[in-house]
Amino acid sequence: MNNEIISPSYLCIKPKQIQMKKFVFILAVLVAIQLQAQDFKFAEYFKDSNMRVDYFHTGNHEEEHFAVDRILNDGAWAGSKTVLIDNLEFGLYFFEILDAETDKLIYSRGFASIFGEWQTIPEAKEIWGTFHESVRFPWPLKPVKLVMKKRNEKNEFQTIWLTEIDPASRKVNPAAKPPEFNTWDYMVNGPAHEKVDIVVLGDGYSKEEMDKFHADIQRLMGDFFKVEPFKSRKADFNVRAVETPSFESGVNKPHPGDFKRTPLSMSYSAFDSERYALTYDNRSVRDAASEVPYDFMYILINERTYGGGGIYRLYATVAADNAFSDYIFIHEFGHHFAALADEYYSSSVSYEIGEVTVEPWEANVTALLDPANLKWKDLVEPGIPIPTPWPKEKFDAFSYEVQKKRKELRSQNAPEEKLEALFEKQRKHETKMLENFQYSGKVGAYEGANYMQHDMYRSYPDCIMFTRNKNDFCPACQRAIGWVIDQYTISQTFLLRQQTE
Ligand SMILES: [Zn+2]
Repeated sequence: MNNEIISPSYLCIKPKQIQMKKFVFILAVLVAIQLQAQDFKFAEYFKDSNMRVDYFHTGNHEEEHFAVDRILNDGAWAGSKTVLIDNLEFGLYFFEILDAETDKLIYSRGFASIFGEWQTIPEAKEIWGTFHESVRFPWPLKPVKLVMKKRNEKNEFQTIWLTEIDPASRKVNPAAKPPEFNTWDYMVNGPAHEKVDIVVLGDGYSKEEMDKFHADIQRLMGDFFKVEPFKSRKADFNVRAVETPSFESGVNKPHPGDFKRTPLSMSYSAFDSERYALTYDNRSVRDAASEVPYDFMYILINERTYGGGGIYRLYATVAADNAFSDYIFIHEFGHHFAALADEYYSSSVSYEIGEVTVEPWEANVTALLDPANLKWKDLVEPGIPIPTPWPKEKFDAFSYEVQKKRKELRSQNAPEEKLEALFEKQRKHETKMLENFQYSGKVGAYEGANYMQHDMYRSYPDCIMFTRNKNDFCPACQRAIGWVIDQYTISQTFLLRQQTE
């Protein structure tokens, strides 16, 4: 990951304090870095539509295989025409598009997948799994190679699959998908190529509940744009919705035995974790989403039961009616948009993680193997000890009590209000604790993050990726989110203006 070279603590941290001149200079440096290794123009290699490669990703805990399902026209190209190479290199997986004749790299993006998570749970040691996935990139004018990479045990990307695609082949379907669903614009601020385009889908909303779907979007998006850096950069986003009404209200909830079938097949109990809500029906979801131009996808679940999920560049999901929906909405978007790691560690999760010997690639957690080169060291004030002391024992003792209580309530099938009340009590208590110790409000390296009580550190006492605080991402998270926004919003117009000034 080369993100330490781009450290624009400009817009995301304290936007009002930065003078315009400095801002333009930093942005120009950022643009230069984003465009490093990109000496070509979009129109030399691509036309303005979206190629979607659907494939099956199959394997078990130690091997994985890919097979193409279909190659389609996925509507207009919504991504950047300027930043084609992904220098952030976030994600467990990374795909590259090479010009087949010259092997020149012409497009790349990092991403994560449900398969990648599933492979780490105990089930993958017993059975094989198959997941349907897609990669999307601008429609190539000539034959290309699609190269799939995955991180090895040292976190370096290694090629695990390569396939050639000839856009003129009969296997590639250039036909546009006929419109099928109603769409609705929540906010359109400019051309898709120069904005982050979010599509919001809904599952478990009946035909009669479409007004509720719109109201849920308005409420949750309203909360989302109150949080930095989304607040300062609201004009960089477009948000559109696609309506996929279900036969009846609500989605599948296997744990309490409430089974349902809905158009997008959203379900709680993914990986047998009651609050983890995902859909494995990638085809239906992608077909619905492509009704509008999109870069990122949010699926609202018409339910009150606490739950959600977020996978880097796949989608984020949230139960719309929980007292913590606003928090889950923003937290899961952090995973989906900027590949942020969970900073919490005490909750029970199904992942199996061993001893840490390599630095995690996520921008907001560190194993602190090399404290002198802390990945957010430029954000740390002089005099802050690394690692940074915090009242961890007190915090942990309280949090384990809450975990126990939560398990009890769930096993008794207690009403959702009881759990919401417990979480609210926990939130208040934790916020107070984290805002009132010696290093409160200081960037440092605080032990406990990424599901690990020890040997893993976060940048700040509190963050939306740590507790259920609804207000602030930590500075490391804010900065990473800002980098991803830049990948979608640096425009050709901006570059031309820079060159003439
Ligand atoms: Zn954070």
